[in-house]
Amino acid sequence: MQTENLVDGEWIEAQGGARFDVIDPGTDAVVAKVPHGGAVEARAAVDAAAAALPAWRARPADERAKPLRRMAELMLQQRDALATILTREQGKPLAEAKTEIAYAASFLEWAAEEARRVGGEYIPAAHADKRILVMRQPIGVVAAITPWNFPAAMITRKLGPALAVGCTVVVKPAEQSPLTALALGELAIAAGFPKGVVNVVTGDPDAIGRTWLEDARVRKLSFTGSTEVGRILIARAATHVTKLSLELGGHAPMVVFDDADVEAAVRGAVVSKLRNAGQTCICPNRFLVQAGIHDAFVAALQREVAGMTIGYGLDEGAVIGPLIDDAAVEKVREHIADAQEQGAELRTGGHFVRPRAGLTERFCEPTILRGLSTNMRIASEETFGPVIAVRRFEHEAEAIELANDSPYGLASYLYTRDLVRALRVAEALETGIVGLNDGAISTAQAPFGGMKASGWGREGGKWAIDAFVEIKYVSIAM
Ligand code: ADP
Repeated sequence: MQTENLVDGEWIEAQGGARFDVIDPGTDAVVAKVPHGGAVEARAAVDAAAAALPAWRARPADERAKPLRRMAELMLQQRDALATILTREQGKPLAEAKTEIAYAASFLEWAAEEARRVGGEYIPAAHADKRILVMRQPIGVVAAITPWNFPAAMITRKLGPALAVGCTVVVKPAEQSPLTALALGELAIAAGFPKGVVNVVTGDPDAIGRTWLEDARVRKLSFTGSTEVGRILIARAATHVTKLSLELGGHAPMVVFDDADVEAAVRGAVVSKLRNAGQTCICPNRFLVQAGIHDAFVAALQREVAGMTIGYGLDEGAVIGPLIDDAAVEKVREHIADAQEQGAELRTGGHFVRPRAGLTERFCEPTILRGLSTNMRIASEETFGPVIAVRRFEHEAEAIELANDSPYGLASYLYTRDLVRALRVAEALETGIVGLNDGAISTAQAPFGGMKASGWGREGGKWAIDAFVEIKYVSIAM
């Protein structure tokens, strides 16, 4: 297991050998100790990335694509080992971790192909003796700050397109999940990226983030995390007007109409809400279900979650793993208690359990609450746990109003078999992503990102490229 930082192709310690513990959320065991870097390490990483930039951006796209493709292959070859590291530091069941590794590799594959298509345009001008040439150039050194809930995919989603277009990258993973990031750094070197093109620094988030935004050589910061930290970064980016891509919090509604296929809606609810124990930014946090189908939906959902196995991520058959830490547990407990105090009815779950000896008590039962109302915390704050809170509605207009009643606008889900209603509601929802009869909406091909306080920009597909290029036009007199 790699436990040093990657700077300029070397594996280094933090200044003075400072380290912090990476904790297994399922057992509280110390998985490893990694460098507690700060401003010095962050600056060294930018030095390396800036030095590597001219040669990397000058490479033909096909030559940039080769190590990207190779890294994706290595990830798939070493999928089991990577997934085991991921599960140990993050907690998700091993099968889910393996799925994430494949999903993460798909961003590199896509980027390797897209690298060839970062072209420009030759445009007729207003005057016969003029022409306009538009080119897309790499933006420069890119900083990536990523969260713990998808320790592999949130890195490759940024790394892939940034490297494909000719940028060099400095990465800071979340302090809860640095080991997957360091393992990816190892694969980047094995795949043949020249030194300094990919750098990974772990440690003090505030010091590292601040250093990068105070350094004019960093031309772009791509961040996935909380809206709260996003706001800090926006303020700090003012110093050098650093460009930002922000994928922030969400509070997705799932709207289920009377004419929906109940079984499909239940499957969609389970896959979107209970994956990663409910710790995803696109999780539905409000289930809005039309009166005629409400009771049948709740009953079917209750049957579906009854058979789900709560367990340690590396134990056979585990489907729901632990929450990431005690603060997460406390928040979920509070959300459940607050909803009950304000009149919600607990249909199932609601407790934290220790699935077997030797484990922590951070495992939350899949929980169903009915009678969700607007004043409950769960109706406005991201719960980040396996808690399904259901509210009954009568009319389409009411559902749209409730669904859009949020400062967030990342994802929403909609279940109906009426084609016209589907399009009408999908158009009305104020979110960057709509799952139409679909609970599994993440894919490398599509533009992922949010409206309102959910962020700026899109990641994935051809749109991912836009985040890492500058558009330049050359006005030509003939
Ligand atoms: P979460 O609530 O999901 O943990 P955070 O926004 O706190 O989300 O964390 C997402 C990423 O942002 C992590 O890599 C974390 O270390 C980093 N981070 C936290 N605080 C700061 C900060 N002040 N500046 C830069 N990065 C930060």
